[in-house]
Amino acid sequence: MITIFTKKSKSFSQEGYRKTINELPFHKLSCTCKQKGTLIKHGYYDRSIKVSRFLFKLSILRVYCKSCKKTHAILPSWIVPYSRVLYHDHISIIYSYLNNLSFEPIMQSNLLIDEGNIRYIIRQYLSHWRERIASFDGEVDLSVTKSCFKHFSRQFMQIKRTANILFS
Ligand SMILES: [Zn+2]
Repeated sequence: MITIFTKKSKSFSQEGYRKTINELPFHKLSCTCKQKGTLIKHGYYDRSIKVSRFLFKLSILRVYCKSCKKTHAILPSWIVPYSRVLYHDHISIIYSYLNNLSFEPIMQSNLLIDEGNIRYIIRQYLSHWRERIASFDGEVDLSVTKSCFKHFSRQFMQIKRTANILFS
């Protein structure tokens, strides 16, 4: 998969994603096989994401690489691969956990996130990411994305090892 870095991590919407895709310089885009300019649009698939009060269906672009013959999803940096919880909600949950803050405001701003989701995310953080972040003296905030791609070729809180590269 290929993640497109967007500064406004909260600008999540189909429209925002479509705009990002339309402005993408495809000829400059690298595939995970390291070839440049070999990706062509290949279709869309739906992913549901928890946004404030409802499950939001995001239609995600798939591209095909003419060189390695693989298909890849083009993801915005405001999502965490394989998770329905938005990237900024992951950050808020872990930040609150690390600073002993209440999770109430997070659950109030996103009614689809409950205590079970929060416990799950914290467990994933502790078993997969705490040591990784410590290994480069990182802080859990919105800026951690680039470091995680640089050091681990994954989005922060991405659990599966699928290769993921950042285009910024
Ligand atoms: Zn390729």
